[in-house]
Order: sequence, then structure tokens, then C-alpha cells
Amino acid sequence: MIGLVDWKSEAISNSEFDREIQEFIGRHPANGNIEGRKFTINYTRGMPFADICTKTVYIPSWVKRKLNRCELQFVVFHELAHIIYKHKDTPQYHMQEQFIADEYAARRQCRRGYAENTLGRLNHPHIIRGKASMDINPEEVKSRIENLRSLGLPW
Ligand SMILES: [Zn+2]
Repeated sequence: MIGLVDWKSEAISNSEFDREIQEFIGRHPANGNIEGRKFTINYTRGMPFADICTKTVYIPSWVKRKLNRCELQFVVFHELAHIIYKHKDTPQYHMQEQFIADEYAARRQCRRGYAENTLGRLNHPHIIRGKASMDINPEEVKSRIENLRSLGLPW
């Protein structure tokens, strides 16, 4: 868990309002005061995250480039869920919170296909190398996909 706090502060200081992210967030009436920002970071260890205190969803620009619109929407909905459910992201609750956030996002999209594609892409070995986030690791991705498949949603 090297430099986790450091890259998040760097992400926050390098962030800017993003219209596309905000558009996904803004469609839900309950989310009026949640903000969407993208951040620039020169390495792939910066992962999407949600800041519960400031109610802000942060998406790194490399993730935006790598995903199509529907996959990006899944990521934004997933982060949104962490804010709505006020998740703590402690090791104790981490997996449970990931399942809840994935389910929230997949149900809003009425399918699990974008979720599975996104998790598959972000799990690519060259992205995993050097990342400092708890959010993505191969074992976890496997359980998250199994969880998504248990929801009975269409592809
Ligand atoms: Zn998450």
C-alpha cells in the first residue's frame, strides 16, 4: 500500500470539473450535490475513487481514455454508490462495499456486461503493475465478477 494517500492528494490537486462525469451523476435526482472530477496522473496506479467528505467522484484521465461511454458510466455509478452509502473503505468492509457499489451500478445500467468488461480491462496486467489502490487486484476482480453474475441481470 505504498503512497496511497500521496497519489490521492496529487489526484485531488490535479483535478478539474468534468462535464461527462457530471452528466452521469446529475441524471439522478438524489445526487444533486455530488460532483464529478477527472484528474491527470502520469502513472496507472491512480485509480477511480470517491471522497465521501466532499462528495466528489474522481476519475483518472487514463481510465476515461481506456473505457467506452457505458463502461465509464459503470465506474462513475460505482463510485457514486460509495458516497450514497457512505462507505468507509476499511480492509474490514472493503469487499462488501465493492459488491454493494458494483450491484448499485449494474442495476442502474440494468445489465452486468459493462461492469464485467470494465473490471476485465482494469485488471489487465500492465495496469495492475505498480498500482497502489486497494480497488483492483486479480483475486478481487474474480469475486466481484462472480457476485455480479449472481444478481440475475442480463448481459
Ligand atoms: Zn469501489
